[in-house]
Amino acid sequence: MRQPIPPYLFAFAVGNLASRELGPRSRVWAEPELLDDAAYEFAGVEEMLAAAEHLFGPYDWERFDLLTMPPSFPYGGMENPSLTFLTPTLIAKDRSLVNVVAHELAHSWTGNLVSNASAEDFWLNEGFTVFAERHLLEALFGHELCQLHAALGRRSVDEAVLQFAERPELTKLKTRLWGVDPDEAYSLVPYEKGYLFLAALQGAVGRERMLAFLKSYAKRFRFQSITTEDFLSFTRAELQGALEQVGYEAWVDGVGIPKNAPTVHSSRLEAIKALGQGLPSEAQAQAWAPVEWQVYLSSLSAPQPAQRCGALDQRFGLTNSSNYEILVDWLALAVRSGYAPGVERTKGVLGEVGRMKYLKPLYLALLSREETRAVARGCFERFRGSYHPIAVHVVGKLLASS
Ligand SMILES: [Zn+2]
Repeated sequence: MRQPIPPYLFAFAVGNLASRELGPRSRVWAEPELLDDAAYEFAGVEEMLAAAEHLFGPYDWERFDLLTMPPSFPYGGMENPSLTFLTPTLIAKDRSLVNVVAHELAHSWTGNLVSNASAEDFWLNEGFTVFAERHLLEALFGHELCQLHAALGRRSVDEAVLQFAERPELTKLKTRLWGVDPDEAYSLVPYEKGYLFLAALQGAVGRERMLAFLKSYAKRFRFQSITTEDFLSFTRAELQGALEQVGYEAWVDGVGIPKNAPTVHSSRLEAIKALGQGLPSEAQAQAWAPVEWQVYLSSLSAPQPAQRCGALDQRFGLTNSSNYEILVDWLALAVRSGYAPGVERTKGVLGEVGRMKYLKPLYLALLSREETRAVARGCFERFRGSYHPIAVHVVGKLLASS
């Protein structure tokens, strides 16, 4: 490569791989059995690149190739420059999970072009990237869809903050990680609190100025690693008064989510909220994008009565969903509700995938009930050999602390 990169972005992949052209500067790599499905799923990549260049400035890495990893890959994606690694769980056969591709592509500007100087400034990589990803989703799929993703993000960051109740210092954007295992400090906080901070700044200065700011930020710091303090002094000069207007200290050095966090406005979100704990009609659910199912399922409290679980499953076939985002949200709820077909399917999923985003909530759901605790231990013993060592460590800790 002619571009300089920090070492964490350097990776090898070895396997039985075939490739197919997707566009003038992109091809997808996968095991031959998966190639057709992968090529279908990611076909829109050039359109996405063009939209991203329009928003963030020129793409500096020549190629944007995609590699479909084995199921044990513990993350959704990894933005290795010019060859993004992706979990095979994105292949839903309906192109509905390409927001992860948008996320990894956005890293080409925020993360790879401008890198965080250390893990304590991780939010500069991830908060900026979620912010850029949502602008990209908005450009490609419209404002409402982007808002639904933001709503989902808000829900998950609130949950992450609760999970860190004992260690609130890990919910600051600028963290102090001396002596702390980064895998234990890892959460959605740098992603979603970082997003909210930048969205608050956008609220203060307006959309156009914020997009211009993003472009000049990428230009000013290209091929450099920067700290939170570098970001603050640049922002202070470029967007005068904006940091004070949003109360930046509470964002950067305060715990939890500040009260002035921007809220989501979406009629589609309101329609889901109006359902409360009730079921959607078939006509309503038919019009839903997968993200609406996710928002709906995450708004149901656990446990739900077994009868309601049965009705939902019968009407919408959730236990058989081929979209892992919907499937795992559903299974976590079903298992917490003691719904037997959900427990059965969960055993299967835990052996099929090693993505931590799915392993963690499913193991936690099994561990939450006396009746299924042994199932969790049994699955871990049976499947740990097929998980990535990081996932074995993280799931092992969950089991040990329950
Ligand atoms: Zn990321």
